[in-house]
Amino acid sequence: MTSAVVVGSGPNGLAAALTLAAEGVSVRVVEAADTLGGGTRSSELTLPGLLHDECSGFHPLLLGSAFAERFDLTGAGLTYRWADAEFAHPLDGGRGATLWRSVEETAAALGRDGTAWRRVFGPLTERFDAIGEEFLQPMLHVPRHPVSLARFGARAAMPVSALGRAWRTPQARALFGGAAAHALRPFGGVLSSAIGVALTTAAHAYGWPVAEGGSAAIRDAVLARAAEHGVTFETGREVTTIDELGPVDLVMLDTSPRAALRIAGRRMPRHVRAAYRRFRHGPGAFKVDFAVAEGVPWTHEQSRHAGTVHLGGGFEEMAATERQVNAGRMPERPFVLVGQQYLADEARSANGVHPLHLRPRARRVHRRRDRGDRPADRTVRPGLPRPRPGHARALRDRHGRPQPELRRRRHPHRRERPGAAGVPPPRRTRPVRDGRPRRLPVLGRDPAGRRRPRHVRLQRRPLRPPRPALTGGFRGTAPRSARY
Ligand SMILES: Cc1cc2nc3c(=O)[nH]c(=O)nc-3n(C[C@H](O)[C@H](O)[C@H](O)COP(=O)(O)OP(=O)(O)OC[C@H]3O[C@@H](n4cnc5c(N)ncnc54)[C@H](O)[C@@H]3O)c2cc1C
Repeated sequence: MTSAVVVGSGPNGLAAALTLAAEGVSVRVVEAADTLGGGTRSSELTLPGLLHDECSGFHPLLLGSAFAERFDLTGAGLTYRWADAEFAHPLDGGRGATLWRSVEETAAALGRDGTAWRRVFGPLTERFDAIGEEFLQPMLHVPRHPVSLARFGARAAMPVSALGRAWRTPQARALFGGAAAHALRPFGGVLSSAIGVALTTAAHAYGWPVAEGGSAAIRDAVLARAAEHGVTFETGREVTTIDELGPVDLVMLDTSPRAALRIAGRRMPRHVRAAYRRFRHGPGAFKVDFAVAEGVPWTHEQSRHAGTVHLGGGFEEMAATERQVNAGRMPERPFVLVGQQYLADEARSANGVHPLHLRPRARRVHRRRDRGDRPADRTVRPGLPRPRPGHARALRDRHGRPQPELRRRRHPHRRERPGAAGVPPPRRTRPVRDGRPRRLPVLGRDPAGRRRPRHVRLQRRPLRPPRPALTGGFRGTAPRSARY
């Protein structure tokens, strides 16, 4: 029987383990942390009874994916839930834009930009299943749906700054710009629209659902299926070298490229090793978790009903911010993703206090700030609305795990700079130039002891958002400005 070891139990590692096991491979998963799940962990980070997602909160590309359907994750206990609106983008003075599931409803609210919104996203939404199937594959493949892919590609290939010209109102431009900012790339870059177009289309096709009971429910559903197929797990063990895994036919590394280099680097051909060394991480981020009494009093009314709120100002302001973080500078007011998962899954709240998740962009998390002399929450406070009169202490608690501790929890093996893992520029997502982009040639030994090349599957890490970093304290003082 073929044997495999998967290093890392993030969602990609677990998906790999389950897929292999379903094909009859004997699979063992080795995880450095004490709990399984990587980015799909959830816990009470602030107050007892308040459930926060530690990393990922919204899963637009899971629902409807071939993987979720093949293994019937809903049958294994996963329930998706949606807020009334998928995402919203508040602007100054109570204005803003909202993305509703329906293309029609969204377009109707965008006034004179409605027609352009319909023209761009209507046809893509109708073909989203085919597009998603192509989009989630390695870039180099023979497409099964070339027409749909071409239609998607025509938009995705454009720089955000060019596609953004399809709309003229600040609302429509900001709505698309906020989705595009998930890519962490400068708005002027070729292909920079790909993520924004895919996420917006996914929002229209399937919404941006959360998992009932926290993202850990996704992990639990996959684990339930994995158990049915006999996958075994080992936690609390950091793999440092491929040799320690013993004789095994297949190794899959669900790790950062640098960890892969440390684990398998000595056995990589020199040009592959050099390519891995050249890998550069993208911008980082902070993550701040708050416990908020009565929710956030957005002046843009519809933001009170949206699962995700994008705080970034207008399109031009977001373009400038993305330019800055990609150039290594910390903007005065970074782009912030606000997760209001509790709107979709009420059981995450307790006694009228809700978990809130904020993720500002930053080029790097400065060590000086890790020591607390400038808490991360001060970066996001200017973007939050002023607490209502009589509710000066609306923010009841915050999650204040220092950044080095947080990093150790998720990536005990990592020695790279804090907050440095992000989206690699596309030309660096595939360092192996041997025509098999997701295979990493490694020199191994067969049982007879002869050296022979074999291939270790490398989990490509597509468009990975930054690592969470420092969380900080908020003690009820009023924000410096109340814009939204
Ligand atoms: C704050 C934040 C918010 C996010 N929000 C979203 C979102 O809303 N929606 C979304 O789709 N995505 C989101 N993401 C991204 C998502 O979390 C990641 O894309 C996803 O977790 C990647 O999964 P993975 O399996 O590749 O790696 P990870 O989830 O990072 O898992 C890697 C695992 O491997 C283990 N490991 C690493 N090295 C070793 C080793 N040497 N030995 C043993 N074990 C090892 C680690 O401990 C970890 O458990 C977010 C990420 C962050 C940080």
